Amino acid sequence: MLQERVEYLKNELNKHNYNYYVLDNPTISDYEYDMLFSELKEIENNNPELRTPDSPTQRVGSISTGFEEYRHQYRLYSLDNSYNAEDLRKWYERAQKEYGKTDLELVCELKIDGLAIALNYQNGVFTTGVTRGNGIIGENITQNLKTVKAIPLKLFEDVNIDVRGEIYMPISSFNKLNEESLKNNEKIFANPRNAAAGSLRQLDSTITAKRDLSMFTYTVILPDGNNTIKTHWDSLQYIKKLGFKTNPNIRLVKDIDGAIQFCKDWETKRFELDYATDGVVIKINDFAVQNELGFTARAPKWATAFKFPPEEISTTLESIEIGVGKTGAITPVANLTPVLLAGSTVARASLHNFDEIERLDVRIGDKVFIKKAAEIIPKVVKVVDDEQHYLRQKYIPPKECPICHSELEYREGEVVAYCSNENCPAVSKAKLEYWVSKEAMDIDYIGPSVIEQLYNLNMVKTPADFYKLSQQDFMQLDLVKEKSAYNMFNSIQNSKNRPLSKFITALSIRHVGKETADILVNELGTLENIISADVETLSKIEGIGEKIALSIYEFFKSQKNIDLLNDLKNNGVIPSEVSQKQSDELSGMTFVLTGTLHSMTRDDAGAKIKERGGKTSSSVSKKTSFVIAGDNPGSKLDKATTLGVKILSEDEFLTMINN
Ligand code: NAD
Repeated sequence: MLQERVEYLKNELNKHNYNYYVLDNPTISDYEYDMLFSELKEIENNNPELRTPDSPTQRVGSISTGFEEYRHQYRLYSLDNSYNAEDLRKWYERAQKEYGKTDLELVCELKIDGLAIALNYQNGVFTTGVTRGNGIIGENITQNLKTVKAIPLKLFEDVNIDVRGEIYMPISSFNKLNEESLKNNEKIFANPRNAAAGSLRQLDSTITAKRDLSMFTYTVILPDGNNTIKTHWDSLQYIKKLGFKTNPNIRLVKDIDGAIQFCKDWETKRFELDYATDGVVIKINDFAVQNELGFTARAPKWATAFKFPPEEISTTLESIEIGVGKTGAITPVANLTPVLLAGSTVARASLHNFDEIERLDVRIGDKVFIKKAAEIIPKVVKVVDDEQHYLRQKYIPPKECPICHSELEYREGEVVAYCSNENCPAVSKAKLEYWVSKEAMDIDYIGPSVIEQLYNLNMVKTPADFYKLSQQDFMQLDLVKEKSAYNMFNSIQNSKNRPLSKFITALSIRHVGKETADILVNELGTLENIISADVETLSKIEGIGEKIALSIYEFFKSQKNIDLLNDLKNNGVIPSEVSQKQSDELSGMTFVLTGTLHSMTRDDAGAKIKERGGKTSSSVSKKTSFVIAGDNPGSKLDKATTLGVKILSEDEFLTMINN
């Protein structure tokens, strides 16, 4: 029984190793792979007689084909994984015990999700670059590596040296590459790691040269006779001095608590980076301790990889449901076989629009990868390209609204389909649901099922109807007793004087969300001014392009909407028009915020800017006055540097507003 399970796991892991390392086309997520791997490892630990030399737990990676094989002078290892703080503590305690010393400093580095390579330099000149392969034999890909600009062809010192690092593709370049491949009907890559691996293993190095690859160097084998560098930390400073690119996000900590904190810090901050990282590598700093601890069959004992909770997992697409939004936009949603991802069960994921379904070629019954990054709702990112996929029916998008059966329409320049019926019940209900949401009028106790009933009983058809209801009216609804009827009635009444920007947001004007509503209110001040603004006035406002200006103008030109505004007013809904602005200190200035601030959140900083008459924007352009950069800023900082936009630290910003 156990023997059978071991055989099954070995076969599965070997098959997935082949898909991943040779074909660059994984069919399960890394997390699922790691779970199979740790199951096999545990069985083998408890039953050593079942461990065979050919077990995937005893080996590293795999060698691909097509390139000249190259025997590494120094073996390359993999890393053991930890998934939680407890595992990390156990690893640290084992090392302390084995070495007989308690104060072991650690270096924490981001685990770059790319491809490990080894580089050799003679007299400071790049000679050979080899993939990790199975750790003993790799592939000689020197020609291709010469096209990677982050790899120095000549070092600042004439040394004989070997280094290791990770080749990766920036996320932005990966997205661009997939878009291009799609246009040309070529294979798309599942993730930046597979794209980097696929690009590096091109037999024609002119193709590699066209791909945007980079490299972070993280290990050096010091030249013989070098006794001055005694720690990993110092060795990283040394390779930086030689001209290698090292990752700036590293930290030297005095014990495992410091390392656990580093892992926590990066669990969400990683989403701001333009490269993929799947964890943190924790290494004992002192080379003497490293030498003492040594290696297991596949990994060093002096290092461990803490893996972040998975962002991606595979599951099956059971059906495609069509949602109708508040602007009439049609959104296909994937119904999935439920899976656990990043701590919650996911049964639905976004498919965005019909173009996206066509792009992914997703078919009902397909195995798909879904991804959840930061707090974003999960989305389907790739279809597993197996034989069954081609036997399934291609998805045919509907031609009519699933609710009112009106014809779907496409507007110029948009990929989204819309329901053409202004009075579609789905659209009306979605508008009502949005009206009560936190982002809009913030009305508690009125959820989708209450709205459904109010709508079906003809009690509420437009937002103004909410304000016509008495406490008694709510008692007609299912399961609603006096107390909840009172709560519903009260929270509706309490929303009558919400700030103007919330009111504008709540109107569901196409292309106008919270940010645009804020801009409108800051610029034009009153509802009257917003209603009467012409397209020219609107489009001159920074942050409001022509498309948005036209949509706002058309909204307030429609008699139906004017009737709604009057109806709201007649029922006591009068938004408060106090502007956030309290002074003109920062008037005419636009700020972009990036990275983590210490004394306040980015929203707080935005509020301080607006109070002083300034504006905030989510993207950097030539018109940006300042970029405020906190810790670990994202690509906005790079863009600011390129465009020569002035960059402020948090302290400089505070000094600016406090003076
Ligand atoms: P790994 O990726 O878990 O860890 C070891 C590697 O980390 C090193 O070889 C190195 O390349 C890399 N690394 C990145 N940053 C580093 C840093 N700062 N310092 C040191 N090393 C750093 O191990 P692996 O052996 O390369 O691959 C095994 C993993 O690959 C599995 O855990 C799984 O996640 C994935 N995998 C997935 C599939 C699949 O089908 N989805 C199949 C095989 C392997």
